[in-house]
Amino acid sequence: MEKCELLYEGKAKKVYATEDPALLVVAYKDDATAFNGKKKGTIAGKGVVNNRMSNFLMARLEEAGVPTHLVRELSERETLVKKVDIIPLEVVVRNVSAGSFSRRYGVEEGLVFAAPTVEFSYKNDALDDPLIPECHILALALALEDELEVIRGLALRVNAFLRAFWAERGVTLVDFKLEFGRLPDGRIVLADEISPDTCRLWDSATGEKLDKDRFRRDLGGVEEAYAEIARRLTDDGKAY
Ligand code: C5P
Repeated sequence: MEKCELLYEGKAKKVYATEDPALLVVAYKDDATAFNGKKKGTIAGKGVVNNRMSNFLMARLEEAGVPTHLVRELSERETLVKKVDIIPLEVVVRNVSAGSFSRRYGVEEGLVFAAPTVEFSYKNDALDDPLIPECHILALALALEDELEVIRGLALRVNAFLRAFWAERGVTLVDFKLEFGRLPDGRIVLADEISPDTCRLWDSATGEKLDKDRFRRDLGGVEEAYAEIARRLTDDGKAY
C-alpha cells in the first residue's frame, strides 16, 4: 500500500492518505514532547519501539476480542490502519497512583488501587486537555451515552489484558491513555497507539520507570528504557 499526501503531522506521528479512502498510513517519529508541547526533544529509536509495541499489543488485543484500527505493519516505523473518526477524548485507566492523579489529590505515587479507574479528558491542546465529566461529554455531544459505555468496557478489557501481559514480563502497568474512533458504520474501535509514550510501566522488582516519565522528568536513560520495554515485549520467558 503506497502512502500518498500527508494529512496530518502530530507531535509523535505523521498520518498519510493512501489510494484506499478507508485506509491511512501512520508513521512514527522519534520526536518527543511533554507538558502539551512545552518540552521538546528526540528519543533515538522511539518511533521503532512505539510502532512495534503498539502493533504487537493491538494484534493480541484483537485476538482477545477488542476491535482496533490495526490493519498491518508496513515497516519498522509505518503501519496501515483503518481510517476512523477520532472521538476527542483521552481515556485514562489507572491501577496505581502517579502523575496528575498524585498531583491533583496530593498523594504519593505508587498507591495500588483496589479497582482500576477510568477517566476522560477533552482532547483540546488550547485548553490543556482538561478532565471532563460524562455529563459534559454528553452536553458537548463528543460521544453518545451508549458509546461511552462501550468505551469504558473496552478500556477495562484492555487494562485487564495489558496488566496480565506486563506482569508476566516483570512490569507493573501503572496507568495508560487510550483513544477510540468510529468506523464508517459507527462501530467503536481502539485507535492511536499503546507505547511507552502513553503508558506508565515500572519494573515490578525495582520500581524503575521504563516509560516517557524518564524524558518528562529528566531522569536520563530514556533510550535504554524504551529498548528494555521492547526487549521484554517479545520475551515471554517469565524470568522476572
Ligand atoms: O499525566 P497523567 O497522570 O494524567 O497521565 C496518565 C497516563 O496517560 C500516563 O500513562 C500518560 O503517559 C498518559 N497520557 C498520554 N497523553 C496525554 C496525557 C497522559 O499518553 N496527553
